[in-house]
Amino acid sequence: MPYYGWDEKYLSLVRQTIREFCKKELTREYVRWMDENCDFPPDDLWKKLGEIDAFQWDFTNPYANLIIQEELATASAAVMIAIGASVHFGMGFIAMIGNPSQQAKYLPRLMKGELKMCMALTEPTGGTDILNALQTTAVEDGDYYVLNGQKVFITAAHVADYLITIAITDPEAPKKDSWSVFIVDAKTPGITVRKIPKLGIHACACNEIFYDNVRVHKDNMLGRKNKAYQFLVAGERGKEKKAPSSDDKRKKGNNAMVALFNMERVSTAILSLGIANAAYQDALAYAKQRMAFGRPIGQFQIIQHYLVEMAIQIENARNMIYGSISRSLAGYESAKQAQMAKIVAARASEYCAIKGMEILGGYGYTMEYDMQRYFRDYKQMVFAPITDEMAINVIAHMLGLPKSY
Ligand SMILES: Cc1cc2nc3c(=O)[nH]c(=O)nc-3n(C[C@H](O)[C@H](O)[C@H](O)COP(=O)(O)OP(=O)(O)OC[C@H]3O[C@@H](n4cnc5c(N)ncnc54)[C@H](O)[C@@H]3O)c2cc1C
Repeated sequence: MPYYGWDEKYLSLVRQTIREFCKKELTREYVRWMDENCDFPPDDLWKKLGEIDAFQWDFTNPYANLIIQEELATASAAVMIAIGASVHFGMGFIAMIGNPSQQAKYLPRLMKGELKMCMALTEPTGGTDILNALQTTAVEDGDYYVLNGQKVFITAAHVADYLITIAITDPEAPKKDSWSVFIVDAKTPGITVRKIPKLGIHACACNEIFYDNVRVHKDNMLGRKNKAYQFLVAGERGKEKKAPSSDDKRKKGNNAMVALFNMERVSTAILSLGIANAAYQDALAYAKQRMAFGRPIGQFQIIQHYLVEMAIQIENARNMIYGSISRSLAGYESAKQAQMAKIVAARASEYCAIKGMEILGGYGYTMEYDMQRYFRDYKQMVFAPITDEMAINVIAHMLGLPKSY
């Protein structure tokens, strides 16, 4: 495991603890039950996740977070996405751009899992070209802003206590200087949430949100007015640069910011890695015990090649994920590596789910085995939160090619 000099003993303990938790609380039967019956992890599981600090975010040791995320995503991608909505979107935004009173109000409860949040950016007119698609407005009215508009595909909005909402606050300004972020209480009059049925990740639903004259107090603006776009895309335009030699406080702050931006891509990569792990483990176990022509199918060379390719792609994805975080911690630009990790891990999950299904033969296609869930779940990671096509566009631009979008 590429810990790159971090405290291996401590990290092994983290992995062991989280594995034991998953073995006990996220059994195969329970995860299957959630997939068939839930649109979000049940409250008692949520409470137990809080007890093992699954909602804590430790910038001083991101590897511990990576390990927790990988183990949880391997047991249940839906549970990990549900956590991610609150931790990466809610906590990430508030920790990075919230003022001290917002941080004091929300962070302690978020870290205990007592509050749920979601991030509402995408709109029906399009997610990839979000700068041109975003139409939701927030108009000043005394001490309040009045929000009108519609969001789509918003993960966990149906259970969220607060909706981190991006809206236009200056329609006259250039688009990049027109967005602001608001912490919107989900119970505010004028908000309607509608669940959207989807193919996979059933235990963490996505939703439409309608804002009809929703009044939000000015104290709930998050970060600087009209500067949300700059915050959201920070890091994407970064050029390669070497780490500064001094490790002063300012550098540490920059690293934390880059780490946060990259974490969104990296967290998606980890979800894919978890799905890939799960599909691989099931396929490997099956290949060892399923008999054909008087021997286990794992003795046939083509099945061995499928399994080895899975293992290679998983190892490759994991190394890219840890590598991008290592770079970021060392003060190097890592946005490109984070985008690449997202793509490589998505491809690994796709390969493992498809080949895993083939290794299981007819059983892989039935609803009685979990391979069909991995096959349904992996697809979400290919286009959310950014499509692979768009991630490749961004990488091309970072390589110095003309911007294609
Ligand atoms: C299950 C799920 C959960 C989600 N959760 C959230 C959430 O919590 N919060 C949130 O704000 N959003 C969320 N999203 C939205 C997600 O970020 C968008 O779906 C994504 O950005 C793509 O936008 P789109 O679906 O509108 O596709 P479009 O933007 O309409 O793209 C359609 C196709 O065109 C391609 N395309 C577009 N432009 C280019 C280009 N320049 N070059 C090459 N190809 C291009 C895309 O890659 C894609 O293949 C979620 C989506 C899903 C499906």
